[in-house]
Amino acid sequence: MVLPIVKYGHAILRKKGASIGKIDGEIIRLIRNMLDTMKANQGVGLAAQQVGHALQLAVVDVRGVSDRPSRLHWEGEDVDPGSHMPLVLINPVIRPLGEPASGPEGCLSFPEIYADIPRAPSVEVHALDENGKAFEFGCGGLLARAVQHEYDHLQGILFIDRMTRSTKQGLKEELEELQAAARAGID
Ligand SMILES: [Zn+2]
Repeated sequence: MVLPIVKYGHAILRKKGASIGKIDGEIIRLIRNMLDTMKANQGVGLAAQQVGHALQLAVVDVRGVSDRPSRLHWEGEDVDPGSHMPLVLINPVIRPLGEPASGPEGCLSFPEIYADIPRAPSVEVHALDENGKAFEFGCGGLLARAVQHEYDHLQGILFIDRMTRSTKQGLKEELEELQAAARAGID
């Protein structure tokens, strides 16, 4: 089921997600719906907050993007990132590695807003999958950017928080419009 996406201006996007204990039927249903919602919106990632749940849960899928490469290191080898997509990340912990570099980024909660955001070029991830099994991987390129973006969402951090002051200033009108729409309940 495709869920409505919460847009900028709604308080839930600023909530840190609660750690998930038991992966029950409700969580499994939420994961399925988040995967449907990410796909329907051609998203690279989606966090639980973006569909109205402050939980440590995000999904990522870079298969739809061909012009920005990703790297995935899984169980000791470099593998085709597509072979492990979509990724379900429950209670993820990440370790960004390397000097942050700027690259273009968007967010489903900020329609039509894109900006350069500095992110570490690679990241190590520890998480639980949808079966509650712990797993880990290393990644780079677009996948590393997506993981860091989604991890931020789970802490209540948004990509506008990582923009330079001048970039954010340049988007002031668009951001105010989004906030006004959220306040009016018309998004
Ligand atoms: Zn986002």
